[in-house]
Amino acid sequence: MPTLMWIQTGACGGDSMSILCADSPSLENLLDSHKVDLLWHPSLSHSSTKKLKNTIQSICDGAIPLDILCVEGSIVTAPNGSGMYDTFAKQPKMQIIEQLAQKAEVVVAMGTCAAFGGIHAAPPNPSECIGLQFDKAEPGGLLSSEWRSSQNLPVINVSGCPAHPNTMTKTLAMLLLGMPLPLDHLNRPQAFFNTLVHQGCTRNEYHEYDIEEHIPGGRGCMFFNLGCRGPVTQAICNTELWNGRSSKTRVGVPCFGCTSPDFPLDHDLFKTEKLGNTPTQLPAGVERAKYMAYKNLARAAAPERVANKKMQP
Ligand code: SF4
Repeated sequence: MPTLMWIQTGACGGDSMSILCADSPSLENLLDSHKVDLLWHPSLSHSSTKKLKNTIQSICDGAIPLDILCVEGSIVTAPNGSGMYDTFAKQPKMQIIEQLAQKAEVVVAMGTCAAFGGIHAAPPNPSECIGLQFDKAEPGGLLSSEWRSSQNLPVINVSGCPAHPNTMTKTLAMLLLGMPLPLDHLNRPQAFFNTLVHQGCTRNEYHEYDIEEHIPGGRGCMFFNLGCRGPVTQAICNTELWNGRSSKTRVGVPCFGCTSPDFPLDHDLFKTEKLGNTPTQLPAGVERAKYMAYKNLARAAAPERVANKKMQP
């Protein structure tokens, strides 16, 4: 029976809430079908914290094997590297995680905070937060970049704020099935981070013809004015919908790039940073001069129904 422990550090609990919405597979199906022994989850376990303390000790002593360790939240290292701002049973959680990680077959960072530091690591970062194996996009997390789990894997980063529900359960399912899980340069499973949020967005035709919105909630594209990071953000949000129904960009809210190590950016999330009239960051792989020439032509060529943002042709 495989064992799984879910530990929460500097977190809002969003990834726990998110995984409860998973439907392909759902968390309960995942646990049932693989007969997973859930050793602890802060929102789902009803055993006492005393039992948790004993379980942690037994894992560290080697009496209980630990197959999968999931960490949700940034690693709090303040004050002065002691980690004492975030403790369990008077021990810094960063120390507990380090000990558990040495015993785990696989360690999974659930969410951008655990992967890269996330919101808690945003300047001025008073709690000196970092990720498990990264500090933003750089090495410098709790574990060294050379660190590997018992299965010779780095920390698997399932980033997102929160992480996409099915990305979490599918990653766990693949691990439980022993399937190969190729990772990208940020140690995210390629299977779920090799498409852009832009791909599958229902506003693509507006993007194509440069018909842009100025306030959230409209029908046009949000790239030029509202800070949408869909064209530079790798995630499945528009190819595997949230709750099987929708996504942020589909309801008129820009993508904030929450799966990226630089999330949250240090500027207005609802505003596109520009150089003159051009966004400072263009869609991935695009050449600036050609892109702008194409945009100007495209706008002039926009069919009336697109220019007027009408539903019907
Ligand atoms: S709203 Fe964002 S994701 Fe959608 S088409 Fe525009 S840039 Fe792409």
